[in-house]
Amino acid sequence: MSRSWAKGSTRAWRRTRALVLLRDAGRGCRAHADGWCARVPGQHRCADVGEVAHHTLGRSVTGDDPRYIVASCSACNLHIGEPGRAADPPNRPVTAW
Ligand SMILES: [Zn+2]
Ligand SMILES: [Zn+2]
Repeated sequence: MSRSWAKGSTRAWRRTRALVLLRDAGRGCRAHADGWCARVPGQHRCADVGEVAHHTLGRSVTGDDPRYIVASCSACNLHIGEPGRAADPPNRPVTAW
């Protein structure tokens, strides 16, 4: 069920994404500017461009609601990832020894 949207972009999502990128055009990378990046430890380099739409609270939480989606550069989008996933342990063995 959580994989239902992983098949690819739906028409609705492409519309929402275009709407968000248009709304935030010229504002640079909002994910970074609004402090979402700072919540996630690690290093990345913000390109300060709005090239992808980032779900600030996680797609599993808010769905594709433009109020919770901001324009982001791809570096920051990758850095933050899917916020809702942070609570889940990574899908790999951590006790390899
Ligand atoms: Zn950032
Ligand atoms: Zn950025």
